[in-house]
Parts: sequence; C-alpha cells; structure tokens
Amino acid sequence: FIGVILMIPYLKLIKLLEQQKSSVQKKKVDLKRLFSLAKSERLLMSVAIVFLLISTITQVVQPYFFGKIIDGAITSDGMSVVNRNVIILFIVNCVGAAASAIRSWLFELSGQRLVCRLRQSILDSIVKQEVGFFDDTRTGELTNRLSSDTQVLQNAVTVNISMLVRFLLQIIGSLVVMFYLEVTLTLVLMVVVPLIILIAKLYGSIVQKLRKQFQDELAAAGTTAEESISNIRTVRIFGAENRISNHYSDNLLKSYGVGKKLAWNSGAFMGLVSFLTAGGIAIVLWKLTTGLFTSFLMYMLQVALAFAFLASLFTDFMQAVGASERIFDLLDRQPKIPATSNSQSCIKPMDFDGHVRLEKVCFTYPTRSDQRVLHDITFEIKSGQKIALVGPSGGGKSTIASLLERFYDPDSGTIYFGSNPLKSIDPKWLRENVSFVNQEPSLFACSIRDNITFGLDRIDITLDEIQEAAKQANAHDFIEKFENKYDTLVGERGVRLSGGQRQRIAIARALLMSPKLLLLDEATSALDAESEHLVQEAIERAMIDRTVLVIAHRLSTVRNSNSVIVIDHGTIVEQGTHDFLISKDDGIYKKLVLRQLMAGNDSITTD
Ligand code: ADP
Repeated sequence: FIGVILMIPYLKLIKLLEQQKSSVQKKKVDLKRLFSLAKSERLLMSVAIVFLLISTITQVVQPYFFGKIIDGAITSDGMSVVNRNVIILFIVNCVGAAASAIRSWLFELSGQRLVCRLRQSILDSIVKQEVGFFDDTRTGELTNRLSSDTQVLQNAVTVNISMLVRFLLQIIGSLVVMFYLEVTLTLVLMVVVPLIILIAKLYGSIVQKLRKQFQDELAAAGTTAEESISNIRTVRIFGAENRISNHYSDNLLKSYGVGKKLAWNSGAFMGLVSFLTAGGIAIVLWKLTTGLFTSFLMYMLQVALAFAFLASLFTDFMQAVGASERIFDLLDRQPKIPATSNSQSCIKPMDFDGHVRLEKVCFTYPTRSDQRVLHDITFEIKSGQKIALVGPSGGGKSTIASLLERFYDPDSGTIYFGSNPLKSIDPKWLRENVSFVNQEPSLFACSIRDNITFGLDRIDITLDEIQEAAKQANAHDFIEKFENKYDTLVGERGVRLSGGQRQRIAIARALLMSPKLLLLDEATSALDAESEHLVQEAIERAMIDRTVLVIAHRLSTVRNSNSVIVIDHGTIVEQGTHDFLISKDDGIYKKLVLRQLMAGNDSITTD
C-alpha cells in the first residue's frame, strides 16, 4: 500500500521529465536570466525562504509527535507523554502557522513587485517598436505577454520556487526522520519502492509493445472478415467459405498468441508487486508499534504528496520557460526604426522650414514582401506649399504619409527634410515637427484636455493655449457645451463623441504641436452636413501658413493647393496644378474629377 502510494506520483514525475527533456534542450533555457528577473526581490525572498524553512521543519516533525501521542495513549501509564507531546505539537503548529503566514505574504509581495516591474519593461519595449512590427504581431499576442505570460513568470520565480524548496525539504526531512525512527524499515522501503517502480516501467514497456502487436493481428483478422463479407458473392461463386474460415482462424490464433503473453505478463506483474508490498507490510507489522506505524504512514504520505506536487510544479516550470522566452524575445527586440533618440539619428534640423523631398522612393510593406507598393516616387514640397495627393483608393497615398512620419523606411531612395536624410533625424524632433491628422483619429479614454495635449511633453501648458487650438479647430464651442467642458471624459476610443467632433479634437491636437509639416488625410466617411462644414473649415484654417501634404478627397481642397500629384498603383501618373491637369485631354485626373462632378458630389476619390 505504502509502496503504491509513493509509486504513482513518482512515476508521473519520471514521465513528465522524459517528455519535457527534449523540449528543454531545444529551447536552451536561460535559467540564470529567468531567475535574474527576481534580482531586486532577493532580500525579500531570502527572508521568505528562512520562514519557509521554519514552516517546513514544523511540518516535517509533526508525524513524529503524532506517533508519540498514539503510543502514549495506548500504554496504561502514558498520559503524561501524551500531554507533553500534545503541548509540543500545539506549539510546533503555532510556530508553523506564523511562519507560513509570513512566508506566504513575503513571497506574494515579491511576486507582485516583480510582475509590476516586468509589465512596465514589456510595455516600454512594445511601444518603442517600429510600426511595421505591429503589422504582423497581433494585439492579443502582445497583451498576452503583459497579462498571462507575466503572471506565469510571477508564479514561477516566487511561488513555484518556494514550493520547490518546500517539497524538496519535505522529502529530505521526512526521510531523515524516518531513518531516525527505524533504519531497517526505511532502507527496505527505499529498496522496495524503486524496485516496484522499475518493474512497473518494465511491465509498461512490454505491455505497450504487446498491445500494439495484438492490435495489428486483430486488424489483420478484421480485414479478412470484412473482405469476405463485402465480397460474399465472389466467395459463394468460388465456394471459398472454408478457405476463408481457415484464414480467419489463422489470424485469430496469432492474436490469441499475443493475448496469452499479455495475460502472463499481467499475472507476473501483479504477483511480483503483491509479493514485494506484502513483504514490506510484513516488515512494517513486525517492526513497528502503532505510533511508529502512524508516523511512518504520515511520512510516506508526505513524501508521496511532495513528489506529486513536484510533478505538477514541473509543468508550471515548463510553462514559465515558454513564457520567459517570449518575454525575453520582446524585451531584447531592438526596433528597426528607433522611437527615441540614438546615435545614428540625432540631427535636429533647427532651420527646417517645411521643405521635404522624396527621391526615387520605393517601398514594400514588410508583411507583403511580394508586392511593391511605391515605385520610384520623386516629388518635393517647398516651404509653405500645399500639395494634394489624389488618386484611386489603394494607390499608395497613405503609404507616402506613413513614410514621411517614418513609420516605415523605404526599400530604396531617400526622403530629405531640408538637406537631411530622414533616417539621420532625431525621432523626437520629427514627432514634434510633423503632425498627422488621420481620417479616423484615435482618441484615448481620458479627458478632452488630455487628448488635445497628448503629443506634448510640456507640463506647463496653459488652458488658454489649449482653448486657442480648439478654437482654431472649431472644437471650442462644442466642448464648452459639455458640463465638464475640457475635463469631459471621451470614453474608450472617444465613443462619447461624434465622428466630426473626434476629427476636430484631432485637428486641435495637431495644431497645438504647431508642426512645421502637416500631413492631412481628408475624411471620406460620411459626416452630417453641419459637421462636415465645421471640419472642412478647421482643416482649411489649419493649412494656413503651413507646409501641408494633404491626401485630398474634396475638389475644393485640391483647387486650393499649389500642386496636385496623382498616384495610381504606386507611381506618380500626373503632376501639376488643378487648372493644368484639368486642361489635359484624356488625363486621369480630369477623368476622376469629371466622373464625380457628374455624380453630383465634391469627392474625387474612387473606392
Ligand atoms: P491609398 O491611401 O491610396 O488608398 P494605401 O497607401 O493605403 O493607398 O495602400 C497602398 C497599398 O498598400 C494597398 O494595396 C494596400 O492594400 C497596401 N497596404 C496598406 N497598408 C498596408 C499594411 N500596413 N500592410 C500591408 N499592406 C498595406
């Protein structure tokens, strides 16, 4: 009985170790690094381990006193022994409980501290990755790193370590006390149990082989039967009933032969195990008093349970290895395009006046490497000019804006800001001097004020400055109508605002940055007439006295620009003023405009 109790978890542990061994080797776990995560918590964890030691010791000695109490109880003059040991046991339990409480608190605390720090570093690493990284990494995957992977690691380096230490101590401690109590019996058990495990393993592998053989033989017999039944007409025509029967009988005999071996092995295994356990029990009964027997039983249970928990810890640990790999990958990943200043991109062109030049720019999205999106794009935006990009949807207009924001780097060709290649420019400077107003601006779940000041590092920004930007963007009036005015919360992604209101806040946000270059993507999505007028007015106002590249969808915007660039299939197909392009016979631009004028609206985009 004792042997079998111990055997089950031990066998499970062996199996798990075998299964995982290969994967551990494959993954080349950086254990040192895994544990280094908890470096700052070292002191806290050391104290926790001291209390862990105390609580484990109290647990290990308990069965010893139980045994004494039982032996005392069944001897006639043993009441003083019982009393003494009950008191000791009580004190031991109290100390154990206090130590457990402190241990559990300290480990949990260090775990929480670790996970906070880890989550912070992961998010810091995520947000500085280049935009292309997010094209082929799902958001869910990244939020998983932050939530579940960190949780797994928290458990691994705190709770699991504490469990590991505790169970190992429990096993060693129990064995030590068992030796102290009864050397021969402990030795016998230490021989018998591994022997049973060995026999069980041997039996397992033999049975597995025989079962497979048995199944194969049975399958052969099955095929014979199936064939004969489904081809019964042929069997009848040739009078082959007897032949079939004999053939089937041969097959059956073969499987029966394997079945016999199986039966024999099963008998031998059971006999051997029973013999060994019965022998163990005989020694137990021969050697022990009731109290000692109880203590022994409890120790065996402790050891068995410790093995069982070790097995489950191993699974947790393997999970942690996977989680840590994913987390380290993310923490180690260097963004291909830096988000913060570094030595390669450190120029802050103070004299930049908005002049931008694209020279033979070619581009392919990293996630679609087989499809070139921009081919040899060359044009320039002079200081103070308004350039309109027009053309069919999917032509590459937004991609050009993304390249100017340096969300991606071109495959070849160069973008110059003034005389400096974009790659050499300080990323922080770029964000402060180039603003992008998107078709569908994203707002954050905070106040209108925080959304408008989102891009600013300055904390000394005044309400006047914010209001001025909002007025320019036609947003002030509607904001003032809210009860909490600029402190109104906009809800997740700005759901509490209408599309037009969101756009005007985004324009205010861009204006507050007073960018030298403004990138605009005119909205095509339907807004109500009033809202559309206000947004349009805000956009026109934003363009005054600024260098602007606008992805234009409205005829009025195009008319007001200095030059129109028509993009189709990633190339510039026409370029010039609106009047020039409209005068060209058979021009693509002319066709686009005519088609929309005939349809009776102001939009010149074909979707
Ligand atoms: P436009 O702004 O003229 O409508 P885009 O610049 O958005 O055109 O798109 C140009 C091409 O690039 C399209 O074929 C589009 O499918 C593709 N594209 C746009 N964004 C991505 C992306 N993030 N990853 C892969 N392909 C993209």
